[in-house]
Amino acid sequence: MQSLKRTIPVATNNYKNALKNPVFKTVSAAASALGVECYVIGGFVRDFLLERGDAKDIDIVAIGSGIDLAKKVSALLPGKPNVSVFKNYGTAMLKSGGVELEFVGARKESYSEDSRNPVVENGTLQDDQNRRDFTINALAISLNDANYGDLLDPFNGIEDLDSKTIKTPLGPDITYSDDPLRMLRAIRFATQLNFKIDAASIDSITRNADRIKIISKERVVDELHKILAAPVPSVGFALLHKTGLLPLLLPELTALQGVDEKEGQKHKDNFWHTLEVVDNIAKTTDNLWLRWAALLHDIGKAPTKRFDKKVGWTFHAHEFVGSKMVFKLFKRLKMPLNDKMKFVQKMVFMSSRPIVLASDVTDSAVRRLIFDAGEYVEDLMTLCEADITTKNPKKFKKYHNNFQLVREKIVEVEERDSVRNFQPPVSGEEIMSTFGLKPSREIGLIKDAIKEAILEGEIANEYEAAKAFMLIKGEALGLKVAK
Ligand code: ATP
Repeated sequence: MQSLKRTIPVATNNYKNALKNPVFKTVSAAASALGVECYVIGGFVRDFLLERGDAKDIDIVAIGSGIDLAKKVSALLPGKPNVSVFKNYGTAMLKSGGVELEFVGARKESYSEDSRNPVVENGTLQDDQNRRDFTINALAISLNDANYGDLLDPFNGIEDLDSKTIKTPLGPDITYSDDPLRMLRAIRFATQLNFKIDAASIDSITRNADRIKIISKERVVDELHKILAAPVPSVGFALLHKTGLLPLLLPELTALQGVDEKEGQKHKDNFWHTLEVVDNIAKTTDNLWLRWAALLHDIGKAPTKRFDKKVGWTFHAHEFVGSKMVFKLFKRLKMPLNDKMKFVQKMVFMSSRPIVLASDVTDSAVRRLIFDAGEYVEDLMTLCEADITTKNPKKFKKYHNNFQLVREKIVEVEERDSVRNFQPPVSGEEIMSTFGLKPSREIGLIKDAIKEAILEGEIANEYEAAKAFMLIKGEALGLKVAK
């Protein structure tokens, strides 16, 4: 629906106040000196009009050589900042006064069916605006003396900003099929800006979804990261689902959708539940990898789903299966297989632990939780709290209260027993020298027994107690103290 109240000022066509940064005057002077026209275009203009604060990335389009313009701008700037030239792309970049300026020559592009790499020719401003992805990203402000500050908006992008609509400048089939990454960008901008996507675009994305396959995994993941990092990520995942992109990118999530019923028993729809969990966690943390963990915490439920006549629907060991699936998913998407992936795996693997514990908060169970989760115990609690999506207010309150008790117990146990970064209070060397042993199985057995005794609360986490326990345990194994 079109909003009645206009929020974007169009009474004036002059946007000089977008150009307060003195660097724009320098760009303008450089362009005059070279006799080329230039404009600031894209995200900077869009974000200025949306009052999203001054963007730090500024895209300048020159009707001529972007590289020459960048060099001239650098020559006029104090300190003559370094210009990075990307010859293959015909672009150049420099940094000045906390902003990054990217220069490009206006281009006219045509694409072939099976590639993202277009045939590029020099073009006019209008050619360049035609090849932009969305009307709201095609807005340009003139930096030329004759019309400095004028807005050039051939596709009525300003109306689309006002009505919060993502729309393509050309026919959507052309825009999306030329560069299928734009399908994800549409969904990403809709999520970040809380805009809707024009119906013709939704239809076109749905028709062209399959073409996402020609886009590199790195670019896809970059967009998924941005969707996940948005204030309400479910907007994006619901759109990916609606347009048929989701099964091509994250089939593990699509597999969670649907409710089965047998003998009058239903389970919840784990796809929509997952999206609620992601939105919940987005309210409490900016940690991108914890958001990934929320997105993937239930993926093991699809392959482990069974119906048991006695207990109803079960998802036995879904946390373990899910954590294995995380590895495969990261590998497929060429995501890092480093400590970030291990963190997500750990969160998925442990995602039910605090829930099991909440009904009976014992010291030893909390000690084990801290021991196993280590430095990530708070992240795990955050994930579990986000997992509470019950619509029953009594249950909602009860579950949150239970987790509050767990959190308090974690602090208490941690202060007393400090098992978070557990270091064995008696070393393997000391066990060896005490009993005159060479490296052997017994040392492992004694070390494990000491750790277990500490976690169970049988002995304190300290040297004297552990040493006494070691002597008893050694004796039980038939070992003699060496003289
Ligand atoms: P953000 O910085 O939030 O991602 P942005 O709009 O600045 O937003 P960039 O990816 O930096 O996004 O792109 C800058 C501009 O380049 C866009 O505003 C758009 O005009 C154009 N653009 C970027 N990628 C594409 C694309 N795949 N197809 C067409 N135009 C694009």
